[in-house]
Amino acid sequence: MTDVYAVTGNPIQHSRSPEIHRAFAAQSGEDLTYEARLGDPKHFESQVREWFRAGLRGLNVTLPFKERALGIADRLTERAQSAGAVNTLWIETNDQGGTTIHGDNTDGAGLVRDLRERQGAPLRDARILIIGAGGATRGILGPLLAQVPRSIMIANRSPEKALALAAAFRSAQAGPVAIPVDGCSLSALQNGGAPPSFDLIIQATSAGMAGHRLDLDTRIAHRGSVACDLAYGPAAEPFRKWAQQAGIDHFSDGLGMLVEQAAEAFQIWRGVRPATQEILERLRASLSVA
Ligand code: NDP
Repeated sequence: MTDVYAVTGNPIQHSRSPEIHRAFAAQSGEDLTYEARLGDPKHFESQVREWFRAGLRGLNVTLPFKERALGIADRLTERAQSAGAVNTLWIETNDQGGTTIHGDNTDGAGLVRDLRERQGAPLRDARILIIGAGGATRGILGPLLAQVPRSIMIANRSPEKALALAAAFRSAQAGPVAIPVDGCSLSALQNGGAPPSFDLIIQATSAGMAGHRLDLDTRIAHRGSVACDLAYGPAAEPFRKWAQQAGIDHFSDGLGMLVEQAAEAFQIWRGVRPATQEILERLRASLSVA
């Protein structure tokens, strides 16, 4: 029987996940369907449980439900716990017919794979700056720390969120040598005669979605810095322009992360690692004509 998978969010019609997962299925010969389903903010938890009861095998979760999806899972992976959010759910049935819903977060792994394997970005021993302290930053911090950077700075418009996130991830580190994780305001990055400079600058705010350009000192970049925006399409343009002004040669947007987090989910569900380059190129081409 054909297995059924879906993505849910609200709104959901903009989601590229059906296109990506159907391409993975076609490429790997996996017998599955994948559809977009509108999530109901009033009854999200019962709605999702009902979908699983009715035979759904796995679900991707996007805005604004990633935090609520955490509460639906009976078992969480470590990275979902550290992210405080779930973007991938699946159901397991045991021999007695009992079911367990599992929850994972593949966003950070998707970003790291894109940065490491496609962008050749510096991660190990790198000084990393993350701008923004929302759900996306929380999701990528654990996987970035696992790459053993030299330090991570989180800068946010509301500095208290950056400080809280930094403190949580500083104290959660289990290894013998703790990697420094600090937080500050956006304006603190501009202060002083010589602001700190970073090897990798990750734009993780939603400012670009409203067309806003962040007021960032170009001196936080150096000749070899890599800039990455988690957003893609028009929302990534303000930061792309800033990176150009800062003299950064290597800029990447969030489309690679989107495809890689989907590949990670597909592998969890089906045990098959899909190739991602072709679908990424197809999505990029469709964005450029949109
Ligand atoms: P949240 O709503 O959780 O957080 C938004 C963040 O943006 C906060 O830090 C907020 O600051 C900041 N912000 C919003 N507007 C401005 C502004 N005008 N100036 C400065 N800071 C601002 O969003 P997420 O963390 O979930 O998402 C962030 C981005 O990451 C989005 O663009 C999203 O599309 C992208 N993303 C991409 C993924 C991919 O696969 N490529 C996956 C997940 C996310 P404050 O705290 O002060 O309000």
